Amino acid sequence: MHPLVKKLLELQSVDQEIASLTKDIDSLPAEEARRRRRLDELQRSATDSRNRFLKAELDARALDNAVRGSDDEIKRLNERLGQVRNNAEYQATLFQIEAVRKDRDVMQEECLKLLESVESLRPEVAAAEAAVAAEQKVLEEFLREAEALRGSRAGAIAEVRGRRKAMSEGIPEDLLHDYDGLFKTRDGIGVCPVENGYCQGCYNKITMNDTARLLGKSTVVKCGSCQRILYMGK
Ligand SMILES: [Zn+2]
Repeated sequence: MHPLVKKLLELQSVDQEIASLTKDIDSLPAEEARRRRRLDELQRSATDSRNRFLKAELDARALDNAVRGSDDEIKRLNERLGQVRNNAEYQATLFQIEAVRKDRDVMQEECLKLLESVESLRPEVAAAEAAVAAEQKVLEEFLREAEALRGSRAGAIAEVRGRRKAMSEGIPEDLLHDYDGLFKTRDGIGVCPVENGYCQGCYNKITMNDTARLLGKSTVVKCGSCQRILYMGK
């Protein structure tokens, strides 16, 4: 094997080690954002429930006041009934009492309906707020675990990165750059073997000319199809 390719192969195994150490850590920010969005959604829904509850309660109270006002008016009209002097006025007052009572009964009916909806909204609000509290707890737990994971990996990652830096010394910069690009874009395999005449990265056949160059071990050979850096396997 070409000595530089041998170095790159060793570097690749270190890079794979780094990738496996950072894989779950790299996914943490997206996971955190997803959880925060979920919490926001639940908070919006809880606020919505609470507002509907408060509005129903307020409307019910306003209707209740209006019903009391009507009761007062009916009382006042009944008092007047005892003081009227002629039949026409008596009839008119009776008619007025009847009209006020009719409105009052409609308002009371509406008020009762609203009070029923207040009672049915109460558990909905409680459930929505409990869901927010539970999700908040889950998020806090997640953040604690994420922090602990980052902390526990920090040492190992720093150690492997230090090792990588030492190992990459002596590799020409442009070759290292090519390799880094391949590692990123070719699923963590920038250097791969040729087996039975086929590149094991993309499974395309390599040319006779490339086979000869690989056997000669004097140049770095790349796959004509996937550009991965090659070495002779079997
Ligand atoms: Zn290939």
